[in-house]
Amino acid sequence: MSDIKFQDFHDYGNWINNEDNKTGSIEKIKVISPYFDKKIATIPDSDAEQLDIAVKSASKAFLTWSKTNIRDRAQIMSKFKANIENDIENLATIIALDNGKTIDDALGSIRRGVEVIDFSISMPNVLKGESSEVSPGINCVMTHEPIGVVAGITPFNFPVMVPLWMIPLAITAGNTFILKPSEQTPLAAIKLAEYLEKSGLPKGVFNVVHGSKNIVEAICDHSQIKAVAFVGSSKVAEIVYSRSTQKKKRAICLGGAKNHMIVVPDADVDSTAKGLLASSMGSAGQRCMAASVAVGVEDIDHIVNQLIIEANNFKLGKDMGTIISKSSLKRITNYINEAEKMGAKILLDGRNATIPSDYSSGYWIGPTILDHVDPNWACATEEIFGPVLSIIRVDTIEKAMDIENNSKYGNAAAVFTTSGKVAKIVSDNASSGMIGINIGVPVPRDPFSFGGWNESKYGHGDITGISGVNFWTNLKKTTSRWPESSQEWKKYF
Ligand code: NAD
Repeated sequence: MSDIKFQDFHDYGNWINNEDNKTGSIEKIKVISPYFDKKIATIPDSDAEQLDIAVKSASKAFLTWSKTNIRDRAQIMSKFKANIENDIENLATIIALDNGKTIDDALGSIRRGVEVIDFSISMPNVLKGESSEVSPGINCVMTHEPIGVVAGITPFNFPVMVPLWMIPLAITAGNTFILKPSEQTPLAAIKLAEYLEKSGLPKGVFNVVHGSKNIVEAICDHSQIKAVAFVGSSKVAEIVYSRSTQKKKRAICLGGAKNHMIVVPDADVDSTAKGLLASSMGSAGQRCMAASVAVGVEDIDHIVNQLIIEANNFKLGKDMGTIISKSSLKRITNYINEAEKMGAKILLDGRNATIPSDYSSGYWIGPTILDHVDPNWACATEEIFGPVLSIIRVDTIEKAMDIENNSKYGNAAAVFTTSGKVAKIVSDNASSGMIGINIGVPVPRDPFSFGGWNESKYGHGDITGISGVNFWTNLKKTTSRWPESSQEWKKYF
């Protein structure tokens, strides 16, 4: 077990040239632990000048890193993986203190991120290029080339996993990287920087610049940053996508979600109840893959009854951590209050949850289940980002699909059924990038790529797998012909 305590953190600068760079009089952002409602560290609210220091360091490093053999780059990723795994309990504890996740949730999220490092270790095989004789005597070779200095901007909810969707692929491809982690959960990013340094990553290849809106805008605007990957809310994803592409950058911006689980009466009762609960309440509902709407087709009362039994056994502090902030807690409570006013039947009410005995403070709310929700209510259409499941009742699968299709988002959708026909109708017709059949959180594991549709993503392609590799590289096509005029070679025969 880890013995990291919240007293162990301090005031951090930006990570540039493999060290913590103090930022002098720049204003500080307080990092608050949602478990303790206490400041545990500070980070700088960096400006364009601070970013420029990091970009200069990354530009210099690019000259040699981009020419380093890909096998050597991948070797560093092998060491990075080992360093994370050797320290996984401490890293999970940092995530928990910073973000409010349970240790188990934090451990799971690190393991999912490490799968992307695994993929990056295999990149020498993936990026071996293609070659063909395109005409007699003319050969074409196509290779993936690094782009230059690139950046990643990440959300609060997965402080290790989401940065790991980006860093291993971008760096192994030969780019140098600037990470702007969420100002709400920046501490694990600093740890990732330390592991990379310990793994032998040269100075300037990976940098962390902390801050908020200003620094994100400075990243979008900086002429030497060639590509930006963003993960966060749709509102900000759209801003970052527009601003970066206007500045002629390549951008992929993943946004928010409102995922649907379609449940038919023939579904397996136990596993469906567990699936609904895990998807809507896991990570306290603070994940883009949370399915927060269950659309029941005909009578699914037997499944809902089992869901309530399971949810009543859900223990705060063990199965679910805290909400990220006081303001998020208020937003979630407001959605429940409003649904109640509109006439939702509250099957389980997480408001005024008792603080678990191991804690004396924190931003706690329990699992909440709302039944007979109208598909047009805010709780059914907007991203609540908390442990609230809305159940909508319909009488046909077509009506269920209409509800799913009418969402402006399109991250994920799931169906719970024992009928292959129903499963096929849902997977063929859902307007979402990731589909689960009897799986409530259908994250496509590497080498398959992660990414949604509609307003859950701005930009083309996905963020992981081969799609991620394509994002972080340019294709170079070299066509060659050797003149026959020289007869020099004949002397060797
Ligand atoms: P957020 O959009 O508030 O913040 C994300 C990043 O943008 C942070 O680094 C933040 O500093 C920056 N930012 C915030 N406001 C900004 C502004 N006005 N201008 C420029 N930059 C700004 O998101 P969050 O609250 O940290 O994370 C939760 C959101 O992320 C949810 O909507 C969730 O669905 C989404 N998310 C999506 C995915 C996905 O794969 N689609 C994965 C994880 C989280």
